[in-house]
Order: sequence, then C-alpha cells, then structure tokens
Amino acid sequence: MKYPQWKGLTRCCVCGGKRFIQKNILWKELIQDWELSDDEVIAMNQQQGYTCTTCRSNLRSINLAAALMHEGGVSWAQLKHETFDHFCRFSSFAQTTSLLEINSVYTLTSRLKHCIHHTLASYPKYDMQHLLLPSHTYDIVVHADTLEHLPKKEKGLKECYRVLKKGGALLCTIPIVLTKLTRSRIGMKPSYHGKSFIRKHDYLVYTEFGADFWTYFLDAGFSRIELFTISGPNSLVIIARK
Ligand SMILES: [Zn+2]
Repeated sequence: MKYPQWKGLTRCCVCGGKRFIQKNILWKELIQDWELSDDEVIAMNQQQGYTCTTCRSNLRSINLAAALMHEGGVSWAQLKHETFDHFCRFSSFAQTTSLLEINSVYTLTSRLKHCIHHTLASYPKYDMQHLLLPSHTYDIVVHADTLEHLPKKEKGLKECYRVLKKGGALLCTIPIVLTKLTRSRIGMKPSYHGKSFIRKHDYLVYTEFGADFWTYFLDAGFSRIELFTISGPNSLVIIARK
C-alpha cells in the first residue's frame, strides 16, 4: 500500500496553533521487529511525532480531538475555526455528555477535565480488561494507543462496550500497520513502545494491529465501525458504536 503524500496541517484544532514540527519517533530496532515498510515508517512517525509547537499535541491527539468535536456536533466547516479548548468548556457536549477516559489521552486530558461529566480511569487503579464501573453508564468512551498493550484485547473491548449506554460510542486510536493483518506478539521477541526498556512508561506490546483491526470491535459486540481523520490514512480514529 502506498500512502498519499501529506502536506501537513495548517491549524491545530486543539489550541488553534499554526506551527508544527516533525519528530521522528520510531527507532531502528522497532522498525525491524515490526517489519515496517518505508511508507509505514513515514506514516507512523507522522502519527506519533507531528506535533503542534503551541500545545504539544501530536497528530494522533489532534485527530482524536477533531473526532470528539465532530461527534459533539461540530461540522466539518466549523472544525476549521473551533478549538478543543473552547469545545470542552462551552459546548453542550461538555455540559451534558457522560464521558469515560481510559488512561490519559495525553494532551487532551487537561481539556477533557472541563467537561462536567468526565471520568478518568487510569491504570493500574483501573484495568480496561476488568473495569470496576457500572454497565450502560457512558455516552462516550475514549482511549489512545492502549489496546495494543492489553494481554486480552477482546476483554478490554467488551468492557468498553459494557459500560457504554445504548447508542453510545467508543472513540480510540491504535497503531495500525495497514499493509498487514493483525498478529499477536505473544511468544515473539518482546517489543515495547519507548526507547528504554527500564523507563516506567515503556509498555509491552501484545498486539500489532493490521488492516483487519475493525473485526475485533465487531466481535466485541459493536454494531457499526467508522473511521475518522483530518489528515488521511497516516492517523485514524476508530469510532465503534453500540
Ligand atoms: Zn495545538
């Protein structure tokens, strides 16, 4: 698969900033372990390392913010002017939506905390595979690059489904290698996200998601899967509806 050439964003919809830098996040060993093509390396570096210099949001977070705003009624045209900062303070979504954030979604967490019915459930107090939270409670569940770190991703997705109200939606990101099918890394050489094996935030990867990633969401019970992006296939937000 060839990724379309990408020219970058003109505006950050998290803060309204207009300057970006590209940091290359992937390192040689990970590229070898994951057997990534040159195109995949470029796309993943954009997803993780293309960063707004004002609010430090990367492309993945910017797309997740845009998806949440669109879910909250902000049109495509309005996305060119609205910021996530403003949206989380003043929109009707922020006043009325019950929202569960699982683990911190990085730069978005401090904004989401302004939403009145926001709950943050972070590991290790909360394990996505066994959420100690009531069923049918939330309109929105959101997490970013968490699923690949779960020994039992199916259980984690079923838990997201369980705590959602009927008609609710899970919005999440995962690293996806679109040229391959999903493979389990259990039994393979351990692969971590993060350059050092001893840093606390380095997490073991159990699953490399491929082009069939959406089937796991359907298997967990979700009735409809949508993809959202403002930047193309280099960074996708999965919207799974109950
Ligand atoms: Zn920004």
